Amino acid sequence: MTEVQTVQAETQQAERINLLGMSVDKLTDFFSGLGEKRFRAVQVLKWIHQSGVDDFEQMTNVSKAMRAKLSEIAEVRAPKVLKQMDSTDGTRKWLIEVSGGNVIETVYIPDGDRGTLCVSSQVGCSLDCSFCATGKQGFNRDLTAAEIIGQVWIACKSFGQLLPPQPKQERPRKVTNVVMMGMGEPLLNFDNVVDAMNLMMEDNAYGISKRRVTLSTSGVVPALDRLAEATDVSLAISLHAPNDALRNELVPINKKYPIAMLLDSAKRYIEQMPDNHRKITIEYTMMREVNDRPEHAEELAELLRDVPVKINLIPFNPFELSDYQRVSNNALRRFQQILLDKGYTVTVRTTRGDDIAAACGQLAGQVNDRTRRSERYRNAARPVRIVSQA
Ligand code: SAH
Ligand code: SF4
Repeated sequence: MTEVQTVQAETQQAERINLLGMSVDKLTDFFSGLGEKRFRAVQVLKWIHQSGVDDFEQMTNVSKAMRAKLSEIAEVRAPKVLKQMDSTDGTRKWLIEVSGGNVIETVYIPDGDRGTLCVSSQVGCSLDCSFCATGKQGFNRDLTAAEIIGQVWIACKSFGQLLPPQPKQERPRKVTNVVMMGMGEPLLNFDNVVDAMNLMMEDNAYGISKRRVTLSTSGVVPALDRLAEATDVSLAISLHAPNDALRNELVPINKKYPIAMLLDSAKRYIEQMPDNHRKITIEYTMMREVNDRPEHAEELAELLRDVPVKINLIPFNPFELSDYQRVSNNALRRFQQILLDKGYTVTVRTTRGDDIAAACGQLAGQVNDRTRRSERYRNAARPVRIVSQA
């Protein structure tokens, strides 16, 4: 065997490098390592993310020799779809197998002209918010950038949004918005989430506007402080309570990074944006007689007085391991009205995809629960907590 043949044989044995999750910069570096210019990276990026092609042989504007080389050392590998479910209201949910045999969930929610994809960032979550099905599973592992952007790739492909290049072809745009509100805490998987979100916004990939890509966090402040250096997506803060006493109960990470610290960090993030007219979305999941009283609304209005926000009220989605109950419609309307009267923009998230259990926060997947947290949880006598405000 010549030296070249030996190297080739070794490369074939070694794992091929997955190009799916590579940012433009990483792909450019990869191709420059092969002696190719940046335009090659852009060509391949378009094939993958705009045409949905995962076979190098179909990349017809790439030379034959380069296609052969790529097939040898690289691959475009999306995670495997185990099941796709369609709700009668147009909501679509995928169960997706990621390496290691874990299953994650991705949900698509159509609403008029808008189609929002709810994307997962981790298998499980370590933060254990008291009302969250994902949190009850404990943390298993971070998703790779390929597994995160792979969810967008799978969804767009399923809607025929990814098509081979043809002149003047209108591409149907079904996925208009992406929210990092599936399983996991995106700021605890910072680099992979940033790479994937930047691909969502990249013109040569999905070209979704930064206003339509939203990162949702329960408040990992040091990571949020770094976010503006890495990306400029829209920001949602999962607040759920108007004071620290109650938030400590619902969102345990609040004990480490309390509300004032979190809101300061979120304000700084928004202020660093070039178009600083943007607002922070405040998510407030409403549980009956936990955080739904008029006093809570008044306190929330006071808390957010100097923060540029829009508020999204989310009726709690009950799940098997939880004792919380969904807010009543009356309490929800009353709460909303108090905030509207104080001049806030307040939306209410309607429940969608009920028939396929597709709501955000219900995304449990079939995670191997290493911590056995759900078992402990099931066995513990857990009264519904009614925490009065400070
Ligand atoms: N970890 C991130 C993003 C994933 S959770 C975060 O916490 O922001 C996405 C949203 O769903 C969060 O606002 C979360 O609070 C909400 N959520 C979680 N469980 C829920 C439930 N059972 N019912 C309604 N919303 C829920
Ligand atoms: Fe994790 Fe978000 Fe669920 Fe909290 S609400 S446990 S941060 S996924």
